[in-house]
Amino acid sequence: MIKYLSFFLLMTFNLSVFGQNYNVNTDYINQMYPQWEALYKDLHQHPELSMQEMKTSKLMGQLLKEKGFEVNDGFGAYNLAAVYKNGPGPVVLIRADMDALPIEEQTNLPYASKAKGINAAGQEVSVMHACGHDIHMTVFQGVANYLTQHKDDWKGTLIMVAQSAEESGLGADLFFKNGLYDKLPKPDYALALHCNSYLEAGKVGYRSGPMMASVDMIDVTVLGKGGHGAAPHTTVDPIVLSSQLIQAFQTIVSRSVNPIEPAVVTVGSIHGGSVHNVIPDEVKMELTVRAYSPEVRNLIIDRIHILCRQLGLAAGLTEDLLPRIEIREPITPATINDEKLVSKLLPVFQNTFGESNVEEMPQYTVGEDFSRFGMQDHHVPICLFWLGTVDPAKMDMGQLPSLHSPFFAPLPEPSIKTGVAAMSAAAVELFNQQ
Ligand SMILES: [Zn+2]
Ligand SMILES: [Zn+2]
Repeated sequence: MIKYLSFFLLMTFNLSVFGQNYNVNTDYINQMYPQWEALYKDLHQHPELSMQEMKTSKLMGQLLKEKGFEVNDGFGAYNLAAVYKNGPGPVVLIRADMDALPIEEQTNLPYASKAKGINAAGQEVSVMHACGHDIHMTVFQGVANYLTQHKDDWKGTLIMVAQSAEESGLGADLFFKNGLYDKLPKPDYALALHCNSYLEAGKVGYRSGPMMASVDMIDVTVLGKGGHGAAPHTTVDPIVLSSQLIQAFQTIVSRSVNPIEPAVVTVGSIHGGSVHNVIPDEVKMELTVRAYSPEVRNLIIDRIHILCRQLGLAAGLTEDLLPRIEIREPITPATINDEKLVSKLLPVFQNTFGESNVEEMPQYTVGEDFSRFGMQDHHVPICLFWLGTVDPAKMDMGQLPSLHSPFFAPLPEPSIKTGVAAMSAAAVELFNQQ
């Protein structure tokens, strides 16, 4: 009887209709890995800056076409969206970003980037995949391999999106300005992963709800009435007003935002004046604001406006000379992972890697424009999860290089295999939802 019962339990737990998660084909992943590592090293040595990903995008499109995808462009920059129809079922979107950064690689790896590029100001700069987007693209192609080679395991429509210009916050915005969800089937779920420079390779990290912050870049121009430094009473000094504003901005998070809500206001740049004894008529400041909800973001922006107006008036400025505030477009909204979707994926990851290899991660104040794929006006549940990339031997070596560091050196194996397994298992699970 016990024997019979355990046989019965074994049968039911191995069938997905009874709730058991999909088991990825690790033999296939191991067999394909050398090809993926070669692709990774090629991408790593040929990085391209934001909005210049011409060759990378061409390669992504070509590789997807070879796998049977219909590849569409016309979404701005070098954005591509490839569709693979595999019968009736849910629509799942998987996104990877393609751009690199103007950083000179200092990892000393044999396949370190020596690439150069021309930045927006026309200067020659070194270029490096210091945010791991080359890992993202490699995993992306690996997932396309996996899902097309295991198409009997799932039914539905797979949309694979290769995105330009994540770093500048322009790429995802262009996809939606060019009607991604109108031209192609609207996804039931959208997934992405990002390298994590603190999580061990072989692990994945997750977070439900707000995960990464909204990012605003704000220019504040503080005007004044210039004059002789020895006769300040005949001027309105924008340097003194700017210093008052900087102090006042630092009270926004500490005094106006609910202490339970994380937020950041940083003045990263201030420029004004030219010599000791002249009071200038203009100071320029550059701020960044980070928040995890539209409400907190709006509160901070409102406070910046109020402080600029009130302190400007107190300094004696007339209405036409009050500080000017410009929020650079497009902003990056907060990345908010759908809680129901995360609760569907968590057991998939735990089943694939074991519970000890799936970690809940803290919130980060960096931003990611993948957030746009799930904004309120689209109502698409999104989940971006973390892919561990740190060599286990280096986990205890103190401060690890962050993303965007010239020393960031993700460990290709097992990171790439883990990424392909995690994303493929997640997609199959969502395709097979009733
Ligand atoms: Zn980045
Ligand atoms: Zn990134």
